[in-house]
Amino acid sequence: MEEHGYFYRDTWAEIDLDCIAENVISVKKQLPQEVDIFAVVKANAYGHGDVQVAKTALAAGAVYLAVAFMDEAIALRNKGINAPILVLGATRPEDIRMAARFSITLTIFQKEWLEEAQKHLLTDERVSLHIKVDTGMGRLGVRTSEELKAVEQMILGDDRFQLEGIYTHFATADELDDSYFQEQLALFETILGALTKRPKYIHCSNSAAAIRFPKAYFNAVRLGIVMYGLTPSIEMEKEIPFPLKEAFSLQSRLVHVKKLQKGDKVSYGATYESDQEEWIGTIPIGYADGWIRKLQGQEVLVGGKRSMIVGRICMDQCMVRLPSYMPIGTTVTLIGRQEDQFISVNEIADKLDTINYEVPCIIANRVPRLYKKGGKIVDIKNYHLNN
Ligand SMILES: *Cc1c(COP(=O)(O)O)cnc(C)c1O
Repeated sequence: MEEHGYFYRDTWAEIDLDCIAENVISVKKQLPQEVDIFAVVKANAYGHGDVQVAKTALAAGAVYLAVAFMDEAIALRNKGINAPILVLGATRPEDIRMAARFSITLTIFQKEWLEEAQKHLLTDERVSLHIKVDTGMGRLGVRTSEELKAVEQMILGDDRFQLEGIYTHFATADELDDSYFQEQLALFETILGALTKRPKYIHCSNSAAAIRFPKAYFNAVRLGIVMYGLTPSIEMEKEIPFPLKEAFSLQSRLVHVKKLQKGDKVSYGATYESDQEEWIGTIPIGYADGWIRKLQGQEVLVGGKRSMIVGRICMDQCMVRLPSYMPIGTTVTLIGRQEDQFISVNEIADKLDTINYEVPCIIANRVPRLYKKGGKIVDIKNYHLNN
């Protein structure tokens, strides 16, 4: 196959960019025209690939990108992304000149930070800022009207700073009980009242709030998990008014197939013992790829059937009990569809006692990413060329 010319390993993730575009378009259709989408592409776009997702989301109607750290923003600039980028996390004040140089918008929430940053910024440098308000997440942000006023005054008093936005973040927007969400929203509205002038962007909704609470739109939403086709929480599954398209799948191939006799053992610790004659296949993915040891016992799809991972998962490989003999090279789907069977990101999250967000994030860089559009491969991110 064509993709084999580009990486030398029988394990890869496939990212369907059409799914990402469709999810952005579906959300955009729900929003009033004046509400913009900020596409959240932090953490290498939740493990999907930052630049490919950023370009797709922008083409589908997002107007702004958001990342967690300035390194991620610089990486996007170095890959040719010119769209505005907001850093959601804390940046060191002495690094403000990098923000000026790369036109990166920073999140700020401390008067002292601005005082320190002023010492580093040259007179002709300009930086866009969004103020973060902590209305109950307890993570980052000004917590009172007084703190907000002090920060706003500092910004307005220095024309190297441009106040472009203000925002908060909800702790429970994905839970059915919306009382804490309502408290946070009310507090945000109260604190906004302390501003002398409203900046261009006021935003507070993550994916969950963007789907459920039109009254929290203001004029932009920060769209993360739903853009990737995943639900913000299990309880919200039935509340999504359009079909979500899961963009991420994980594939491998059988690299060795053998027949075991009753009593033969598999993998470290020799903990698995076959109780009859059976076919065992080896696939080249292990815990160093993020396919962690806790996934022992998880099913994968081979020949359209569910088959169990048996024995301990090794660093680079694991073993699968096959329904029957299968030739070397047979595709094994760890996440995704084969015929009428589907292993969702949610199924893996459930097996790992975690949330779907974590699953694509922990699939390591060592796993090549293959990008598809219109069913065709349009880009490949492999380990040895552009890791
Ligand atoms: C990650 C993040 C988001 C995106 O959240 P989703 O639930 O993935 O939509 C939005 N805002 C902030 C501040 C974030 O850190």
